[in-house]
Amino acid sequence: MVNTIPRKDAPDLPESGQAWALFLDLDGTLVDLVDHPDNIAVDGALRERLETLTDLLDGAVAVISGRAIDDLDRHLKLSSLAMSGQHGAEWRNSQGDRQIAREHQKALDAVREKVRKQVERDDALYLEDKGASLALHYRNRPDAGDMLKQELDSMIEHYPDLLELHQGKFVFEIKGQGYDKGVALERFLAVAPFADRCPIFIGDDRTDEDGFRVVNARQGLAIKVGTGESVATCRLTDPAAVHAWLDEWITRLQRS
Ligand SMILES: [Mg+2]
Repeated sequence: MVNTIPRKDAPDLPESGQAWALFLDLDGTLVDLVDHPDNIAVDGALRERLETLTDLLDGAVAVISGRAIDDLDRHLKLSSLAMSGQHGAEWRNSQGDRQIAREHQKALDAVREKVRKQVERDDALYLEDKGASLALHYRNRPDAGDMLKQELDSMIEHYPDLLELHQGKFVFEIKGQGYDKGVALERFLAVAPFADRCPIFIGDDRTDEDGFRVVNARQGLAIKVGTGESVATCRLTDPAAVHAWLDEWITRLQRS
């Protein structure tokens, strides 16, 4: 087990006397960011870590991601793990019941075609169609951010009450209005086994800030991975440091 956690800004381990609920982003938090979203590396140690934590926290563990739940399942292969996908537009509780937001679907269908045409014009762009949201990845054309933002803003401007644009690390997401990672966290925290537990959320990107705000309002532990502005109260440097911190917590939970 790794014990070399960089201590600067690193969170203390959660108090043993308290009941905790753990929420985790995936990309850039549990796995390193890579050139293409299909190429992330999920190994057996990560799966085991998540299963052990779910067990030790009485099921109160959920992955909160921008990815679709089907995509999360394809990589994580943990079909009984609670999840929220597509920034809160998709949700699966610990009993395996799934729901997906539909109000904005027609508007998204109309915009989808336009984005597709945009992508056809440029090999360096990659469109990830998640069903209830769209992600346009531009990691291979990093200077295209401003241009793409303008184009996408003009595509969704006809649907101000239904669609919104979010910018992440070399990705733009078009998603249903009113869904974000904070909404996803609140939804879990309203039901068993998450209710009445103090939340911990670990994330690395701008869209995780909504989750951090919810956690801060409940005096939980908001942990930002990496650098950059954040409302989170502490930091870990990278996914390896997240693994080390979680492993240290597992050891403490197993002892108590
Ligand atoms: Mg992330």
